[in-house]
Amino acid sequence: MAISDSLQVTKTRIAAACVAAGRAPDAVRLLVVSKTFPAAAVREAFEAGARAFGENYVQEGLAKIEALGELRRELDWHLIGPLQSNKTRPVAEQFDWVHSVDRLKVAQRLSEQRPPQLPPLNICLQINISGETSKSGLLPAEVATLAHQVAALPRLALRGLMAVPEPGPGALAQHQAMAALFAALQAEGLALDTLSLGMSADLEDAIRAGSTMVRVGSAIFGAR
Ligand SMILES: *Cc1c(COP(=O)(O)O)cnc(C)c1O
Repeated sequence: MAISDSLQVTKTRIAAACVAAGRAPDAVRLLVVSKTFPAAAVREAFEAGARAFGENYVQEGLAKIEALGELRRELDWHLIGPLQSNKTRPVAEQFDWVHSVDRLKVAQRLSEQRPPQLPPLNICLQINISGETSKSGLLPAEVATLAHQVAALPRLALRGLMAVPEPGPGALAQHQAMAALFAALQAEGLALDTLSLGMSADLEDAIRAGSTMVRVGSAIFGAR
């Protein structure tokens, strides 16, 4: 299937899931995950209307940002993969969003290194909602403390939470636990608007639970 067609199919899936959940059809933003696919594929998705792209690996993302430099003002680039504290500078300088912050040190460096002429860097805190030891992210009990610390950093805009729930019969409960965590932080007075939850295989569960941004790769570009 052409990228423009699979993008349309994905948008239709998202809208249908919103309707099924009793939510407005435009309540959920689409982040197109372009990791492992070339800049030409990103350009094709851009021409079909996509405006936000997610990358997992810093070097690969930077190469695509550079290759598509003439589109820079029209696109938002999101880092959704793990970020080590010694790699923060180019991310602070080049990306618009980071979804994978799970340590204060990384957040502090991103804030210090964000160039003053750019708007604040948008941040989601990554939660290890399945509790698997192999997964990155904060444990739910650790989130509130870090959220208040990150919200106080001058060059960052804390937007919300991100997670990759473990597929299987317990998946919907994990999506719902993320939505509860998100609501609890809002109730503490944090002005959060982004629950980054749901991928190609589970975006319906995520939208049912309350996701506001789904991150979709293989359903648009094909298998990696
Ligand atoms: C790869 C990836 C995605 C997209 O996954 P698909 O199954 O291809 O839709 C979303 N989020 C993260 C963090 C990823 O690493």
